[in-house]
Amino acid sequence: MNNADLQKRKESAIARGQGNMAPVYVNRALNAEIWDVEGKRHIDFGAGIAVVNTGHNHPKVKAAVLAQVERFTHTCVMVSPYESAVALAEKLNAAAPGNTPKKSIFVTTGAEAVENCVKIARAYTGRPGIIAFNGGFHGRTNMTMGLTGKVNPYKIGFGPFPSDIFHVPYPNDYLGISEEQALEDLNLRFTCDIEPSRVAAIIIEPVQGEGGFYQASASFLQKLRTLCDDHGILLIMDEIQSGFARTGTMFCHEQAGIEADLMTAAKGIAGGFPIAAVVGKADIMDAPIPGGLGGTYGGSPVGCAAGLAVFDVIEEEKLCERAVEVGDHFVKHLTEMQAEYPQIIGDVRNAGAMIAMEFVHDGDVSKPYPELAKKLSAKAAENGLVLLSCGIRGNVIRFLPALTIEMRIIDEGMDIFKRCFKEL
Ligand code: PLP
Repeated sequence: MNNADLQKRKESAIARGQGNMAPVYVNRALNAEIWDVEGKRHIDFGAGIAVVNTGHNHPKVKAAVLAQVERFTHTCVMVSPYESAVALAEKLNAAAPGNTPKKSIFVTTGAEAVENCVKIARAYTGRPGIIAFNGGFHGRTNMTMGLTGKVNPYKIGFGPFPSDIFHVPYPNDYLGISEEQALEDLNLRFTCDIEPSRVAAIIIEPVQGEGGFYQASASFLQKLRTLCDDHGILLIMDEIQSGFARTGTMFCHEQAGIEADLMTAAKGIAGGFPIAAVVGKADIMDAPIPGGLGGTYGGSPVGCAAGLAVFDVIEEEKLCERAVEVGDHFVKHLTEMQAEYPQIIGDVRNAGAMIAMEFVHDGDVSKPYPELAKKLSAKAAENGLVLLSCGIRGNVIRFLPALTIEMRIIDEGMDIFKRCFKEL
């Protein structure tokens, strides 16, 4: 078996809509390293898109999964429930920022978690409207595509989208949108085409992930909280990419000192097992009638076992603190590069271990250089480094390493990165 042959088979067997980046086919993986089917080793700076925050194949997560598989793999939480689902919900409820009592529900993917936030918000408020942000990403189902502000490639060819969704600007210095302007725009929209009394919720990523790692300031999130309170609108935090210690706290919006009404949790929740959740204020979560939420696989026992182990690992290995150390270490490397190439590297920024490098022309942040991000990730893949790009303008390389990554592996990966960059 080799990568090229597998890629040929993949292209004839799997539709191009489910595209892949580099044709590197995985044989096994451990912490932040992957070995492909040809035996070549790769350093992984993507962690399966911020999923294996505890590293590939963490021994504790693996042991919990194996023990669960020995006992049973599926009964459906809605038919014959089990203790691990209750225990994981209790952990999530306790970990969600704020003091209001919380409840959770389990689903399978991030998009489903977002969909369910919308259902719960509508059931609670009796209102139809949902406000989302330009450049945001919330998933690939019909509702979540509708909420997604980043058009390319997520929405191309897939309309019509659901009604009663409104998009407003996300504060973004690179696009010249200040926090004040974004809030002013939202308030102005309330006076023309968005009637606030018909809005059920505002959904926001505390750090736009697919959009380019732009973080909303604490003061923006606080003002959004106040605005929601003023109009009886629910605030939904989409923490799918930023959650589970990734930004230095268990959930990112904790840093703004605010409490969401509803929050999504997915990706990092279970070290790679497909489980996701909505966590929210108990009275809001209880608005839908029994049977209105959930699904066959929601809260899979294997996912719950993995999720409980992930919670333990985050605590035992102090992964919130580690995310900050890992982020700082990356930033040190990347700012050295920026000092050397200020004309091309327009910005280096991070929220813990959500780290980004933005490529521009002529040192001007208004002139994105997406071709470079694309070429660089392709070249890195050839040289044994898994890199992800992102951004509404496509010009951002994002680093989402396992929070358990060793510093020497970061250094080794950064050497490859710098070498590839210089050779382009
Ligand atoms: N919301 C955010 C912020 C995400 O980053 C993602 C995935 O990247 C999603 C929603 C969708 O999650 P999933 O791909 O599990 O459906």
